[in-house]
Amino acid sequence: MRATMMNVPLSIHGFAERAGRIFGRNTLVSRLPDKSLRSHTYAQWFARTQALAAALLKLGVQKGDRVATLCWNHHAHLEAYFGIPAAGGVMHTLNLRLSPDEIGWIAADAQDRVLIVDDILLPLYRQFAHLHRFEHVIVFPFSGAPVPAEFTDYEALIAPGAPADFQPVPHAEDDPIAMCYTSGTTGRPKGVVYSHRSTVLHTLVASLGDYWGLKGTDSVLPVTPMFHANCWGMPYGAVMMGVKIVFPGPHLHPDDLLDLMQLEPPSLALGVPTIWMTLIQRYEQMLTEQPGRWVLPPGLRSLVGGAAVPEALIRAFDRHGVWLLQGWGMTETSPVCTISYPRAEFAHADSDERFRRAAMAGTPVPLVDVRVRADDGTDAPPDGVSLGEMQVRGPFITGSYHGVGSPEDKFTPDGWLRTGDVVAVDDIAYVRIADRTKDLIKSGGEWISSVDMENALMAHPAVAEAAVIAVPDVKWSERPLACLVWRTGVAPASREDLGAHLLAHGFAKWQLPDRFETLDTIPRTSTGKFYKLKLRQMFGAAA
Ligand code: ADP
Repeated sequence: MRATMMNVPLSIHGFAERAGRIFGRNTLVSRLPDKSLRSHTYAQWFARTQALAAALLKLGVQKGDRVATLCWNHHAHLEAYFGIPAAGGVMHTLNLRLSPDEIGWIAADAQDRVLIVDDILLPLYRQFAHLHRFEHVIVFPFSGAPVPAEFTDYEALIAPGAPADFQPVPHAEDDPIAMCYTSGTTGRPKGVVYSHRSTVLHTLVASLGDYWGLKGTDSVLPVTPMFHANCWGMPYGAVMMGVKIVFPGPHLHPDDLLDLMQLEPPSLALGVPTIWMTLIQRYEQMLTEQPGRWVLPPGLRSLVGGAAVPEALIRAFDRHGVWLLQGWGMTETSPVCTISYPRAEFAHADSDERFRRAAMAGTPVPLVDVRVRADDGTDAPPDGVSLGEMQVRGPFITGSYHGVGSPEDKFTPDGWLRTGDVVAVDDIAYVRIADRTKDLIKSGGEWISSVDMENALMAHPAVAEAAVIAVPDVKWSERPLACLVWRTGVAPASREDLGAHLLAHGFAKWQLPDRFETLDTIPRTSTGKFYKLKLRQMFGAAA
């Protein structure tokens, strides 16, 4: 017997078409470089997206050609998300926070043919232009200034619009639509290539009620850059549901985000923990200094992930009525793999247990298999404490890297992705991240989780931010060193006080850091996470 269902290939094009046709009156708002707001309806956006696709085809873009973007979060970047694949191209988001050398290397490795770049990022482009020649450089006049004559003006390019009968280039569901490079914290960055199929499946799964729970009345504020793992896939979900998006443009300072929230209150915001840490500190500080200047939108829910989420951060937002929903993912995994949402099992749990769970990575989403492999290659028992490497498999998880294949240190012989994260799972498959393999501290043969120690330190009232690293030690091989940023307006804590605080949080005496270093700010990576490699360079050698 055969199934009688139609075999229609999965495709993101239907999402865009649907947004333009069914949700055509809903809006997209972009914050421009001068901080003013510009609105487009989805109908206008869809027409512009099709115009971009038609224009790229006219320029000679062919199936599978890479079209890079070097852009902040705004409506035109969203046009690229859908317009480039509609022309048969592969959108390659370049990370504007990398060094010019890295960006140039990545563009060359991906063999990008075309570049779409914000006018305000042209100075950055000029610094890597010698490393890779794009056949066409299209400049988006984000600031409104005239585009320099040597470049193609994005607005002029799309002005003719698409022919009335325009159709996206035909494709199979496995055809590529986008690519993104990993951060390269271990070796050279590697390209991950997403397909229509992987993206549609990821979008459907991530949008489910307990996850993003996208609703027609939502207004989404993506602080996560659109070059960071496709903004966690949210642009696809928001377009699929035709929900309002408020793009922050280049204005990511906490004051700017809080101002924007007053003008365009979001119901769903997304960003890495460091964004929310600085935002909540500033918000709480101003509650006493300038009460009433800002109000966190009632009912706001916030997606957070990309790095360990301290329980203290979740509690801080909860005090102001905002729930932080944590997800775990990687560029390699589209990225959503696990989400920490309230499960039926916790219905009668007390609030401490609820917060403890919220600070864990959570439950694997449908279609994703998670296993935890101990050092000896066996599965770690699901007891919540036994540690092993998290390995994942599924239809939106990469099975190889562009031009590299499937290196042994990244993939197991039986086809699972090795995440490099050390985790424990319990009997209800709840994942707790203990550390990244390279961040675990091995002292006297025993492991210390930097994530657990940071969590505990950030629960101290004087500590705004904490990052714990291993420094070499002759006797113990490694010892923990804690880098701290003090909370504004609170007296710094003494070493003894911090030690007592850690002991009260369940750490043993031998685990306490030998050194505490105070910093004005903890260095961030190109995607806004704590930059532990930099900290190791700063303090490791001195140890
Ligand atoms: P990179 O961090 O190397 O720039 P990715 O953005 O792909 O690259 O990050 C993937 C890594 O981020 C994961 O392997 C994991 O270590 C970390 N990560 C992501 N989400 C979480 C989370 N919720 N809790 C702890 N760590 C996380």
